[in-house]
Amino acid sequence: MPNASLGEIVLKGIPVSAGLCQGKILVIGRIQPKVECRRITPAEVESQIKRFQNALIKTRGQILETQKKVFEKMGSKDACIFDAHILMLEDPLLIEEVTSVISDENYCAEYAFHLASEKYIKALSAIKDELLRERVADIQDVRNRVLNNLLGREQESFLSNLQEPCIIVCHNLSPSITAMLDRNKVLGFATDLGSQTSHTAILARSLQIPAIVGLQDASFQLSTGQFALLDGHDGILIINPTDYALYIYGKFAKKKADLQERLADLMDKVPITLDGKRVRLLANIERAEEVDNVFKFGAEGIGLFRTEYLFLNRKDIPNEEEQYEAYYKVANALKPNPVVIRTLDIGGDKFISEDKPQEVNSFLGCRAIRFCLEQKDIFRAQLRAILRASSAGNVKMMYPMISRLEEVIEANQIVEECKNQLLSEGKQINNSIDIGIMVEVPSAVMIADTLAKYARFFSLGTNDLIQYSLAIDRLNEKVAYLYQPTSPAILKMIKVVVESAHKKGITVCVCGEMAGDVSLVPLLIGLGVDELSVAIAVVPQIKYIIRKMLLSEAQALAEFAIESESATDILNKCNEYSRSIAPEMFEHIENNKNSNH
Ligand code: PEP
Ligand code: MG
Repeated sequence: MPNASLGEIVLKGIPVSAGLCQGKILVIGRIQPKVECRRITPAEVESQIKRFQNALIKTRGQILETQKKVFEKMGSKDACIFDAHILMLEDPLLIEEVTSVISDENYCAEYAFHLASEKYIKALSAIKDELLRERVADIQDVRNRVLNNLLGREQESFLSNLQEPCIIVCHNLSPSITAMLDRNKVLGFATDLGSQTSHTAILARSLQIPAIVGLQDASFQLSTGQFALLDGHDGILIINPTDYALYIYGKFAKKKADLQERLADLMDKVPITLDGKRVRLLANIERAEEVDNVFKFGAEGIGLFRTEYLFLNRKDIPNEEEQYEAYYKVANALKPNPVVIRTLDIGGDKFISEDKPQEVNSFLGCRAIRFCLEQKDIFRAQLRAILRASSAGNVKMMYPMISRLEEVIEANQIVEECKNQLLSEGKQINNSIDIGIMVEVPSAVMIADTLAKYARFFSLGTNDLIQYSLAIDRLNEKVAYLYQPTSPAILKMIKVVVESAHKKGITVCVCGEMAGDVSLVPLLIGLGVDELSVAIAVVPQIKYIIRKMLLSEAQALAEFAIESESATDILNKCNEYSRSIAPEMFEHIENNKNSNH
């Protein structure tokens, strides 16, 4: 493919959400923009001061607009926070300081502003008065806005209000911001940070937005308005694609569309192997509205409802009634098919309030069941809502991040209290609702035989199980290459969990991203997993591969894997098998470059 000489730039990252798109890019500023220390010539002083003044004017306009929106949505109390932001922009001391650093020390506007605002922030942080110290966050916010304007970057908050369809390029996207993206305006996104199983990547798949992460410094290299082609299958972002690249990708898109049509024919077919092994295929959802797509994409129900998204991007906590409505909607729409509601998994990379100080190591901190057992009022409201919705359909629930038996016992006790309360209030519930445990912490694997006595089912959260067992931060692109689902350690754990569950007569589902990888599905089924729960968009592909495989061959693959010492050998064997039974699923751009049709 022609490149740099024609202005084409090809960047390679980690593909996290399949799909192709093309359009103009919009570069979003870093939460804390990086500022270069640049000297200017005396002749530039005037223009740099002008740039600084213009940035202040632009920032003022943005703050006033946000203030207006907040006032309309939340009233005057919340809106007046922005008065303090405007005051900072108008502070004569700050303006004078920046101006003199530009003219006397000959620094560019952004660096001069960075120096002055850092001084401000340092001085305020050192003050003992709690209230004044709280102002630091406000000042940081204003500082970032001004710097983004000086650097020609848009703000993250801008994302909820896009005017034109575009491809977002940014340093990082939090799951809460991603959840707000408007599918009609965001063609795709590409970030510097992130990895395959971050919740941002998971959301991209659920929103069916083509996405690439781990592009390292793309957000610094690229500028708003450049034309790009994003390939979410292979993790390639092409800036200024040549006509040849556009032609090749046009062919590739056509092949993908043809395959999609073939997959659509499978909607009403059952997921069963060629030799008759019936597998249950369920969907993962993040928002109640997604329920309309569950049957449309051929899933049999929901194996994981990540309820925490109801709690994000808001100032208050959803009350029992609001939660009940969401759970009822899903249960009622799918009855009598199952809906597994996971209790709140907040913490890690999802926070109720983004402004609260975060734990140093939040994935090992007060996350999921630990948070719920600490914040019992929040937990009780959710349990009551789930129990009430259980009378509307086939509702089950499960606890995330169980690491010891005591957590299950305590949570079950609270469930019993909620049941009794609801019954005494005359509310209808399913008194024998199935309660399962997510197995996603190594200690839970080691006591799976014990936990199996206390659970009606297990759900393997491989995203976290891999993170916690292999000590690989699931958000960190630098160690993403070590995140290996086919690690012998992980496969042995899955085997132990399946055996412990089956001994007690309970089922095992895999709801982590491993279940949505077409190459790994035969291995999981060969290991004895009963159910798979995957992002809605990949349900058709998973069904396709199940219908092409033989259980006997999958078992042989699993036997090989359990004996093997190398994650790479196992992965190669899995790739070989899946490609031999369904080569059309593995179409990549490289094949299109080499063929003429
Ligand atoms: C998992 O850990 O595999 C899982 C399904 O839960 P989450 O991705 O929400 O942590
Ligand atoms: Mg998890």
